[in-house]
Amino acid sequence: MSRPIHARIDLVALQHNLCIARKHAQNARLIVVLKANAYGHGLLNIASALKTADAFAVLEIDAAVRLREAGIYQPILLLEGFFSEADLAIIRQYQLTTVIHHHEQLAMLSSSKLETKINVFLKINTGMNRLGFTPEEGLVALKILKNNPRIDQITLMTHFACADDPFKEDEVNQQLKRFDLFAGKYPLPCSLANSAAILQYPKTHADWVRPGIMLYGASPLIDKTASELGLRPVMTVSSKIIAIQHLAAKEKVGYGGQFQTEQPMNIGIVACGYADGYPRHAPTGTPVLVNGQRTRIIGRISMDMLTIDLTSIKNASIGSPVILWGNELPIEEVAKFAGTISYELFCALSSRVKTITVTNENQ
Ligand SMILES: *Cc1c(COP(=O)(O)O)cnc(C)c1O
Repeated sequence: MSRPIHARIDLVALQHNLCIARKHAQNARLIVVLKANAYGHGLLNIASALKTADAFAVLEIDAAVRLREAGIYQPILLLEGFFSEADLAIIRQYQLTTVIHHHEQLAMLSSSKLETKINVFLKINTGMNRLGFTPEEGLVALKILKNNPRIDQITLMTHFACADDPFKEDEVNQQLKRFDLFAGKYPLPCSLANSAAILQYPKTHADWVRPGIMLYGASPLIDKTASELGLRPVMTVSSKIIAIQHLAAKEKVGYGGQFQTEQPMNIGIVACGYADGYPRHAPTGTPVLVNGQRTRIIGRISMDMLTIDLTSIKNASIGSPVILWGNELPIEEVAKFAGTISYELFCALSSRVKTITVTNENQ
């Protein structure tokens, strides 16, 4: 038998979350963000379950090609654009939509021998200071794009740095103002909002919104849980107890002997470690569910195993199911203990963890 750890991917929850995004986005169209293997959920699995999306976004050109070859016909946006002439040839061949965020890309576009037209998203840096042209540079970039006969539709975009924090509305407003000052001069479609802005700032919705994390059922807002937002977790990572140790008082557990028992105690060894993507920094006290009951991790996370406190757990035995995050145990809670965010835990899920896809029919 193979190791008992797996990630269950609930496509019913995924579709539910898409409906929530649609409801908030109202008339804006949805670009479903599938970067990082759909936040660790499986690129093609997620894309084919979200057939009603208006467009998709990825980072790697290979991922875009895989989507096209799987029959995805909607626009596919490359969020960092292209890196070479060869990429441009693929963009043309597969009719991909590319972000343009710096001068090199403009130059490559101008000198390329594109035969068919392509669509582009011109990225404006309004305060995130990562990718994009300043509004002043944007004027020039836009002129160049407009004069390029191989460019078809141009959409203007920007990205918010602080949409997740309700106390930072001023910063969102400032970015929005800078963007509007620029975009207001042109009758071009616009795209600004990530999940947090979709849920929190309707004024940012414009023509295209770009939901990511919310579709996977985690909260993008620092002050609200996913369930408060009506989102359902798509990924549930679970495993089993593979050994039980009956310890006396003053015994130590795991590498470094970091946890010491105060009194006699039963502990469970779970087949899940940092090589599966569980965060090594999760300290003693991080929650897990055993047989549906909440308990805590004790001691250090190993490469392939972790240890849990069975003191108050009823009927714990070898083979008892353990949920690491997902249904009944929000990933945000685990992330907080480990000093990280749900995004990182999703993306870190190892390829050695098998996924099981759940749809309406076999639920
Ligand atoms: C990742 C990403 C998104 C989606 O962000 P979420 O917080 O996951 O909704 C949107 N736009 C861009 C440019 C991104 O890189």
